[in-house]
Amino acid sequence: MNGIVTNPIYQQLYRNLPAGFYAEPTPTPFPAPTLIELNVALLAHYGLEPSWFQSAEAAALLTGQTHSPDNPPLALAYAGHQFGNFVPLLGDGRALLLGQMAAHDGRAIDVQLKGSGRTAYSRGGDGRATLGSVLREYLVSEAMAGLGIATTRSLAVLTTGETVRREQRQPGAVLVRTATSHMRVGSFQYAATHLGPEAVQALADHVIARNFADLSSAEERYAKLLDAVNTRQAELIARWMLVGFIHGVMNTDNMSIVGETIDFGPCAFVDEFNPGKVFSSIDRRGRYAWNQQPAIAHWNLTRFAETLLPLLDSEQDRAIELAKQQLTRFAPQFSTAFYAGLAAKLGLAARSEAGDTFADTTLQLLAAHDIDYTVFFDALTIAANLKEDVALLELCAVSEDGQREASEWLQQWRTLRAMSPLDTASMRRANPRLIARNHLVEKAIAAAERNADYTPFRRLARALASPFDVATTDDELLSPPRIEERVTATFCGT
Ligand code: AMP
Ligand code: MG
Repeated sequence: MNGIVTNPIYQQLYRNLPAGFYAEPTPTPFPAPTLIELNVALLAHYGLEPSWFQSAEAAALLTGQTHSPDNPPLALAYAGHQFGNFVPLLGDGRALLLGQMAAHDGRAIDVQLKGSGRTAYSRGGDGRATLGSVLREYLVSEAMAGLGIATTRSLAVLTTGETVRREQRQPGAVLVRTATSHMRVGSFQYAATHLGPEAVQALADHVIARNFADLSSAEERYAKLLDAVNTRQAELIARWMLVGFIHGVMNTDNMSIVGETIDFGPCAFVDEFNPGKVFSSIDRRGRYAWNQQPAIAHWNLTRFAETLLPLLDSEQDRAIELAKQQLTRFAPQFSTAFYAGLAAKLGLAARSEAGDTFADTTLQLLAAHDIDYTVFFDALTIAANLKEDVALLELCAVSEDGQREASEWLQQWRTLRAMSPLDTASMRRANPRLIARNHLVEKAIAAAERNADYTPFRRLARALASPFDVATTDDELLSPPRIEERVTATFCGT
């Protein structure tokens, strides 16, 4: 198929939704749209050729500077609870849905631009994105994919040739991202608030047909949709937490119906473990802290369930009862996924009561001694392989108390592991060596912003694609930040 340079984005599924769900923006000119990075591996994963994406036509389309006349892009409307406050109209204020392309397995993949200019939903915003925020999303979303966690993907970065005004002027850029859906809890809230139950039903049917096809002819399919969305979120949040990820802005508009991690703002991975850790500079009360994420997900899913009530039963009391039944399943589903994951991280083949208690003790030990979460589980995996504990004991050797606690802990670990050993290859798959540490992400962004030097960004992106098996030449990417390298807050940087 070499040499064929046609645009593979061929349809616009969201156009089938009722009127009111979207707007058609006009193109925004940019001085010099330039392709900086194309994720060729992601294209290969979809079975697509890179050639069109490298063309001049693509650079113009992928920055929103021209629109395809055959398949015009859309900006989607949605609502959302931001930090608990309901905002009836948010929508794609700086994003543009180009449409879908077909992966080799027949799946329709959404292609969306972020930073491509103003839309009907921009409110006071400029519709732009900074290069820094674009590179951050690229690195963190691709890190998630490397970790095997459901996520929107980053397909390309383009600079626009203009600077955008934030606290300081910064280079502007556009991220091209892909997803299996852009429907959010906030999309349902928008439909319920502005368009009524029929539109909610149309939206639910759209989502079922596209992303939950096994429910298409199911009885009580809307209750089952709620259940399926709950299950995906319970899994997702557990998997985030198991790698120390903090999303940072789990507003209902940033929660995907299909369970992909979406809208990477002030997100980060923890270095030294602290269950109440927050990075986001705007999250002053710790609403979206590491350990708050399951409760917040449940809160968001309750908002989702409220929008579905008219579809669940014509009698409101029965509908509420049905929704409650589904929602009570979230906590145990999360717990199962989380503790099963912790068992695997500890190298235990099966969950047990003793194992769960031990996992809690482990997290307390890490928090009490400010131990780096990823380094600890890496060292534990190495200890399981080599049957020696030196590196692990060193980690806890901050104080005499720490050392004594660590020795006792190790003894318990050996006893538990002897009863139920997980093979070391599976243990490794539960324990990444490399995460997108904030200081590395910041360094990569700084080099790009200051000198248009994308080498650190590319190196980090490449390494993050295989976080369980890191080349020795990338060893320095494994280290926690030195004190002077620590990043304590991340900004929305939109
Ligand atoms: P976020 O916090 O990134 O999920 O964004 C929340 C809302 O603000 C969404 O509706 C965005 O489209 C909108 N928004 C964020 N930044 C901008 C911007 N620079 N211009 C216009 N809208 C924006
Ligand atoms: Mg958002």
